[in-house]
Amino acid sequence: MPNQQGKLYVVATPIGNLADFSIRAIETLQQVDLICAEDTRHARTLLQQHGITTHCIALHQHNEQQTADRLVQKIKQGASLAIISDAGTPLISDPGMPLVALAQAEDIIVSPIPGACALIAALSASGLAVTRFSFFGFLPRTSSARISLFKQQKNNTETWVFYESCHRIYACLQDLASVLAPEHEIAIAREITKLHETIIKTSIKDILILFAQDSNMQRGELVVMISGSQIEKKPDVLTEQQLKTLKILLTECSIKTAVKLATEITGVRKKLMYQTALELSAMQK
Ligand code: SAM
Repeated sequence: MPNQQGKLYVVATPIGNLADFSIRAIETLQQVDLICAEDTRHARTLLQQHGITTHCIALHQHNEQQTADRLVQKIKQGASLAIISDAGTPLISDPGMPLVALAQAEDIIVSPIPGACALIAALSASGLAVTRFSFFGFLPRTSSARISLFKQQKNNTETWVFYESCHRIYACLQDLASVLAPEHEIAIAREITKLHETIIKTSIKDILILFAQDSNMQRGELVVMISGSQIEKKPDVLTEQQLKTLKILLTECSIKTAVKLATEITGVRKKLMYQTALELSAMQK
């Protein structure tokens, strides 16, 4: 019988409150043969608190590419492994990507054990629109690179979310203020699930005042969320009135003339008007 290969589990750990550790996460970490942790010392403290004695090795940014190959061989020989990061969901601005990609390429089952994730927790309590969002991880460290990113995203209609270090948050907010309108909506989630958890939704102008006045706001861990641009998307169907205008013109003129006149009268995009005119004339045939 061929040697049964093991599995790779991607296990979320708490982002502050130790009780946010799922039963399945604890059981999985107890049962696997090896835990790959971002920082083994940090991991041991967490694992000990939950009575997990599984052997732990380091898998961090600097060694993951080389280590991944060796770990995949172990899984192929039957060992099951789990990846954890210092906090939250591995791979989300954390190590693990090369190992997961390599395991998947080798037909190893990769199974997530979901749990805390700062960006999702922050969005869920932000009060901003969350149906569509863009996540940028950590922002560039220099002001010029941040400003250029903000300029690129200025018309993004989705909520944008990023992680920022407390050491750069004030400079980052100033950069945001140099690109966005003072009343543009922003939310900041700080120290989620911890003693000093603070979630604020306000304007760029007021957040700058708040951060300048209260130095505590510039401490701890932060998720920044910016409301998407309010630029209205042009509708891709005609209103009843616009359609009526087009229909009347089509009874009197050629498609080309009707579209030209209807575009001038209604201000609707020519492409949409032309497409609708073609659909109408096809229906009449
Ligand atoms: N993998 C993690 C996750 O699932 O959220 C994120 C790891 S990333 C290295 C760490 C960053 O996440 C912090 O600098 C901060 O921006 C954000 N973060 C982590 N824990 C947080 C918390 N309790 N409150 C607010 N932000 C947090």
